[in-house]
Amino acid sequence: MAKFNIAVLPGDGIGPEVVEQAVQVINTVGEKYGHEFVIKEGLLGGCAIDSTGEPLPQETLDLCKSCDAVLLGAVGGEKWDSLPGNKRPEAGLLGIRAGLGLYANLRPAVIYSALKGASPLRPDIVDAGVDIMVVRELTGGMYFGDKGRVQTENMGEAAFDTEKYSVYEVERIARLAFEAAMKRRKKLTSVDKANVLESSRLWREVVVRVSKNYPEVELSHMYVDNAAMQLVRNPKQFDVIVTSNMFGDILSDEASMITGSIGMLPSASLGEGSMGLYEPIHGSAPDIAGQDKANPLATILSVAMMMKYSFSLDAVSEAIESAVVRVLEKGYRTADISSPQTTQVVGTKEMGRLIVGEIKSN
Ligand code: NAD
Repeated sequence: MAKFNIAVLPGDGIGPEVVEQAVQVINTVGEKYGHEFVIKEGLLGGCAIDSTGEPLPQETLDLCKSCDAVLLGAVGGEKWDSLPGNKRPEAGLLGIRAGLGLYANLRPAVIYSALKGASPLRPDIVDAGVDIMVVRELTGGMYFGDKGRVQTENMGEAAFDTEKYSVYEVERIARLAFEAAMKRRKKLTSVDKANVLESSRLWREVVVRVSKNYPEVELSHMYVDNAAMQLVRNPKQFDVIVTSNMFGDILSDEASMITGSIGMLPSASLGEGSMGLYEPIHGSAPDIAGQDKANPLATILSVAMMMKYSFSLDAVSEAIESAVVRVLEKGYRTADISSPQTTQVVGTKEMGRLIVGEIKSN
């Protein structure tokens, strides 16, 4: 029997509601598959500010570092919006990613056949199937490069941001993306702007070099402008996409939105070794907090990613994902993904109970 320690940070707004359901799923798969998952709760975001004055208390960071993986709900809310940037709940998110050395963000974008109608894409494109994993470099590139303002002689004030990647940074994200592709359909598209940017030319060279260790993975390259277009024109062509921090920021949002349902989308942030932080991509949704309306599936699917990427429990991960598919196919929906046709609208707790029931009965 394997034992794993999981730091759970429910956060604010709907965070605690969706995390509660995800924890029930963790307990259920633990019992069913004979693994011991030890849950250790910590404070992050607005709730941490209220009780300690800091969005990321040292105690929380220490707790996360002592665990095998972290599950996060969501942080933020109006109450803390007027605080200075480094004291806001969102500063806790950046702090925890940096503190755990997480340099890769993985976001799957899947259109479930039961939810095809939610996609803004044409039915013939959606019918072909969409199942993409965007792997975004998280700690380098322009967001972290040299930046500043200067006075120029002829044109007055100017500002600059620098896109810089080292061989080391590209190698590690490329390896992680190839490993992800090995766990999927073994196709990797590296997205860059190598026709214009020197940093992209280095990126491409390094990705090609790393590919020699993964002969089973079919590698292709695409310019970012073309990738943005292809994602809506023919998303089926993609399996895993790997790209830089800034391109990934934009493309992962685009890929997410073609699925049409923010309450369904999980994510993983990974570093060296098997440590990972797993969270839904949505925020704390203050407009529906405390009303049993939040969709817990993005958080439950984040647990499925945790089982796969941090614990290598692929069968457990698949059991959670297929329970989600079956519950959707039976017509159950939370309000955010409901449609006038086939739907039985359920609340957060009931959706969690349905998923737990499906896992137990299969
Ligand atoms: P949001 O994602 O919280 O909400 C956007 C819309 O989607 C809202 O109408 C909300 O009701 C709906 N929604 C989101 N998640 C849902 C779910 N699981 N089920 C059903 N409906 C859902 O984004 P926002 O309104 O821009 O931000 C609200 C707060 O969340 C802000 O304080 C923001 O800073 C914070 N935020 C946190 C994170 C994070 O913790 N990772 C991410 C984004 C935003």
